[in-house]
Amino acid sequence: MKTKLAYADDHFHDECGVFGVFGHPEAANLTYLGLYALQHRGQESAGIVASSGGDLNMHRAMGEVEEIFQPRVLAKLPGTSAIGHTRYSTAGDKGLLNAQPILVDCSKGKIAVAHNGNLTNAGEWRRKLEHRGSIFQANSDTEVIVHLIARSQARNFSGALGDALNQLEGAYSLLVLTPDELYAVRDPRGFRPLVLGRIPSTENGDAWLVASETCAFDLLNAQYVREIQPGEMLRISRSGLESIHFSPPKPHQYCIFEHVYFSRPDSIIFGRSVNESREMLGRLLAREHPVEADMIVPIPDSGVPAAIGFALESKIPFRMGLIRNHYIGRTFIEPSQAIRNFGVKLKLNPVRELIKGKRVVLVDDSIVRGTTSRKLVRMVREAGATEVHMRISCPPTISPCYYGVDTPTREELIASANSPEEIRKYLGADSLGYLSMAGLKQAVNDTKGDFCTSCYTGVYPTDLVQLEVREGAGAKKLAEEVTVQRES
Ligand code: AMP
Repeated sequence: MKTKLAYADDHFHDECGVFGVFGHPEAANLTYLGLYALQHRGQESAGIVASSGGDLNMHRAMGEVEEIFQPRVLAKLPGTSAIGHTRYSTAGDKGLLNAQPILVDCSKGKIAVAHNGNLTNAGEWRRKLEHRGSIFQANSDTEVIVHLIARSQARNFSGALGDALNQLEGAYSLLVLTPDELYAVRDPRGFRPLVLGRIPSTENGDAWLVASETCAFDLLNAQYVREIQPGEMLRISRSGLESIHFSPPKPHQYCIFEHVYFSRPDSIIFGRSVNESREMLGRLLAREHPVEADMIVPIPDSGVPAAIGFALESKIPFRMGLIRNHYIGRTFIEPSQAIRNFGVKLKLNPVRELIKGKRVVLVDDSIVRGTTSRKLVRMVREAGATEVHMRISCPPTISPCYYGVDTPTREELIASANSPEEIRKYLGADSLGYLSMAGLKQAVNDTKGDFCTSCYTGVYPTDLVQLEVREGAGAKKLAEEVTVQRES
């Protein structure tokens, strides 16, 4: 009999940014600014919990950080420590109930949790816990963590947190706030980033910051100290910092897509400059897929550093041939296909005077469904380009992410069932080149095999997911009218 897999029916995508402060008189204000710098990691909802005099106060709302945290709201979040969260999740699980941080009053006192990543055994735990009488408020996997903490028999809080973490599988970069401590935790494989920063010598000594990305520290003039290590629980309290390793080490699985697309280029992620990786992705792409052309045009914003690398390497001029309207959300945030299609036009417009009569190379970081690239190729041709070549700074995305990046199902991923040549024809491009896996790894300087590349290989580092993928969902060929002969 086919076993019902825990994960399949609870599949819950989360793209998020987290930020925490300990030991600063303006903790909530700093958290607001930190979240502002991390807005690209999630735009659907945001929240802050601050600790003051033994109490935790929370404000969460739907929308972007700037609109949610007006001065009158921040004034209601006093205290010297705080955590915040900014979140994007896929349609179907929208809603304030799933916004974070989550705040509970349980057997261990008041605790707030902010989570970036996806737990792969959350569904299984949820069913077990519900069976034993636990009540869940929402469908986010983060609630499972709180229940597991509450149920632990450990005598102190760090022990209870460690107990909970050791029962979890998958990706988590976590911030946990209690009335007088802040915990920063990264799962043993280190899927998602988490970094430690410091603002030296405030009135109460140093203030400590924890963030998904270092760009949040720059805004606050804070120093970047180091990464939270995979498998590390960093306890920050008035007595200082204590590093606890709660799990035996596991092979690292840093998300390579953070370097390809997700993080900001001005961040240091997994100890490496994202901009450096992206320019290198572009340079290697130019070496692997050279082309005779008049200009390199990035798909802004995410394609820009790779396009610069491509231009530097190929010595073909870099031109801003597509202009982005910055006052709308990213295309992928639009919930339905109808709006998505419209969104491309809303977002990008060609500079006809530049493009007309020219052979153009479009550089983007990835093709997901193919909708954006297809429209852009057409748009650039209509603007008068004589040739349109597409270059993608990573390998074909063939399989969904189960560790916290929002990718559609396998059926919707164009590369899951179609060859690059089939995709080229669908896009209507004169040529299409994807970076190789070797090029990708070289660009992020992955000399030790520390990165997760599941979305490009379909091979997953956690058992439950691998099992589900093997049993499950198929890939889909392009529709009849656009299906082309597979190369023999
Ligand atoms: P599509 O039209 O579905 O092929 O989308 C491709 C575009 O989505 C590219 O321009 C990427 O920059 C962007 N993109 C790739 N991966 C993601 C992701 N996980 N979330 C949001 N946008 C993405």
